Amino acid sequence: MQKERLEYHTSLHIGGEADYLVTPSTVDEIKEVTMLCKMNAIPYYIIGNGSNLLASDQGYRGVIIKLGERFSQVTIEDGRVTAQAGVLLSKLANMVAKNGLTGFEFAAGIPGTLGGAVTMNAGAYDGEIKQCIISVKVMDRQGDVFELDKEELELEYRSSILQKKNYILLEAVLQFDQGDMISIMERINELNNLRKEKQPLEQYSAGSTFKRPQGYYAGKLINDAGLRGYQVGQAAVSEKHCGFIINKGSATAKEFLTVIQDVRRTVYEKFGVKLEPEVKFLGEFDEELIEAEII
Ligand SMILES: Cc1cc2nc3c(=O)[nH]c(=O)nc-3n(C[C@H](O)[C@H](O)[C@H](O)COP(=O)(O)OP(=O)(O)OC[C@H]3O[C@@H](n4cnc5c(N)ncnc54)[C@H](O)[C@@H]3O)c2cc1C
Repeated sequence: MQKERLEYHTSLHIGGEADYLVTPSTVDEIKEVTMLCKMNAIPYYIIGNGSNLLASDQGYRGVIIKLGERFSQVTIEDGRVTAQAGVLLSKLANMVAKNGLTGFEFAAGIPGTLGGAVTMNAGAYDGEIKQCIISVKVMDRQGDVFELDKEELELEYRSSILQKKNYILLEAVLQFDQGDMISIMERINELNNLRKEKQPLEQYSAGSTFKRPQGYYAGKLINDAGLRGYQVGQAAVSEKHCGFIINKGSATAKEFLTVIQDVRRTVYEKFGVKLEPEVKFLGEFDEELIEAEII
């Protein structure tokens, strides 16, 4: 266990110091840490690759449990993939492709772990985790480990039972069809090129800042509201893709959150559409700013 600045563990490169950060490599270690926290009334928070997180400037008073490379075993047999939560989607998508399996191409360019992706029901280019998942193994807040099948996961647009119940995703089983390896690789390249063309991948971001409001595109609403490039300190609406709020170098969480709320307020005033953040907030924030009524 060690102190660690969260800016080193988030794709936004924002976030102060966490009291402790641990990187377990077994289910027993995860259980040990969570039970220790429970006994001592210390809060804990699970992260994967930190690619959907805005971490507070004050950091986190508690333990960050990072499930990454040390918890990333994968086995593939007869089109069925069993993978631990910490494996990166890019790595998993390549393994799946090399086995001639199709159906995971959409995930190759999403910069998260499998744990984050199942929790968020991540998706892109008409694909989402829901389409390929069979079952998962989770741990609850009491340290009990059990399986959930696809229906029990309640996977909806960017949401799952894992978020609602605070379960820790340990492992997932995914199923794919046999395909042609060359075509699968080509599709991955094609989608990655599309991302490079459309998204500000050269800058720090957490991907789309807002969920897609029904019947609209967040990026278009933000652009039409005249907010392309809108900036507070070092946090700004991306010029390249208005759905992304970026850190131009040394943005604070407070600046980033101010841009979020300014965008929400302006879009609501102009179009009557409420934008809901897709990005998750980690640590303490000014509650008034987070909950600010935008009407
Ligand atoms: C450039 C860029 C492009 C992106 N494109 C897409 C896209 O196309 N589609 C898309 O859906 N998302 C996209 N994202 C967002 C992000 O990559 C996904 O949401 C991803 O699934 C998050 O995974 P993570 O491991 O980084 O999770 P984190 O950001 O570390 O965590 C996200 C949430 O998941 C929880 N969590 C993480 N791991 C676990 C676990 N093992 N058990 C329980 N809870 C867990 C965390 O507590 C947190 O609430 C993009 C982000 C960036 C920076």
